[in-house]
Amino acid sequence: MAFSPDTLRADFPILNQEINGAPLVYLDNAATTQTPLAVVEASARYYASINANIHRAAHKLAREATIAHEAARRTVSTHLNAAHDHEIIFTSGTTDAINLVSNTLALSGRIGNQDSIIISGLEHHSNIVPWQMLCERTGAQLKVIPVLDDGTLDLEAYQQLLDDSVKLLAVNHVSNALGTINPVQSMIRQAKQVGALVLIDGAQSAPHLNIDVQDLDCDFYAFSGHKIYGPTGIGILYGKENILNELPPWRGGGEMIKEVTFEHTTYNDLPFKYEAGTPDIEGAIALAAAIDYMNKLGMDHIAAHERSLQELATAALQELPGMQFYGTAANKAAVISFGIEGIHPYDLGALIDQMGVAVRTGHHCTQPLMARFGIPGTVRASFAAYNTEEEVTRLVQAVKKASMMLS
Ligand code: PMP
Repeated sequence: MAFSPDTLRADFPILNQEINGAPLVYLDNAATTQTPLAVVEASARYYASINANIHRAAHKLAREATIAHEAARRTVSTHLNAAHDHEIIFTSGTTDAINLVSNTLALSGRIGNQDSIIISGLEHHSNIVPWQMLCERTGAQLKVIPVLDDGTLDLEAYQQLLDDSVKLLAVNHVSNALGTINPVQSMIRQAKQVGALVLIDGAQSAPHLNIDVQDLDCDFYAFSGHKIYGPTGIGILYGKENILNELPPWRGGGEMIKEVTFEHTTYNDLPFKYEAGTPDIEGAIALAAAIDYMNKLGMDHIAAHERSLQELATAALQELPGMQFYGTAANKAAVISFGIEGIHPYDLGALIDQMGVAVRTGHHCTQPLMARFGIPGTVRASFAAYNTEEEVTRLVQAVKKASMMLS
């Protein structure tokens, strides 16, 4: 299928609206992408035709819902090139997936007070706080890879941090605040050399890059449905079979058990061991529809298009006076983060919203990273498959006008 943002916009009716009398320019895709009709329809079809609780009942609807739910798991598994479908755990999002790993690790006793965990200075709060909580419970130490001025990781410092005490590396693949693409493949290889497990926060790479978890050789990879053109409330934890089998379950309840007596409970096999209670059945099915949609467009086409928009916007914005970019690495994905000298990012964001341009302003749930640059926040424009060159022009015009009004 030929890739044409102008054509595919027809799949996203939400984009076709006016904000304050101007056509909406939606550039907050790193927070949440819009859902195409194929996803909305998959979700509606589920409720209109097969809604029932899965795995339990012998009736036809329950069977159909179960088949659709497990087919969705297969779609995710194929998309990530997992070795087994049961390595795919449905969660409520990236945050939930990371908390699943941190809690099962805490319960497992694999991490003690002589051990350490490495994260990076680029992390979202949801890849910081669960590890701080794990360290509080276990006495382990949290070590942080510093960030260089261009928004890349200090890889020499990373090597210095790697020693036998390191039990886990938890790092994002792509920074949500700056767009930096981290060299996770080599970082994973190095972490493996000291015997550490590796969790990749894929919230910002799953929307833009082809992911092959076997090639990456990570132990865990997490992402959210709502950043890949799917619904909110659903996400994925990929985990290697051997480690998922070894770790204990975290949440208890229906579905995650084999047999329950008051004296003793035995746990279910993968993936159900980690999926207590009734899951978000419709969400899983709609998430699979979103993955099908992305694959129909082609991940490479999406990435190339977003890159050209990012380059176009960067070139035009840097002509404006006082412009300061954060995250200037060459290897970036779909994000431009900037500020204008003497202007608070919130004021800039609020003004351009009045002109119909939706961007995010603030710390982007990366307060330590903002502290690293000594700023309260940035203005972040983030791109998706449906954005156009015309929208980049609208963004640049709005920023120019707002900065003239504010300075
Ligand atoms: N990690 C990164 C890099 C993110 O960008 C986000 C969402 N902004 C998250 C984690 C958390 O995702 P969610 O809120 O969907 O759980």
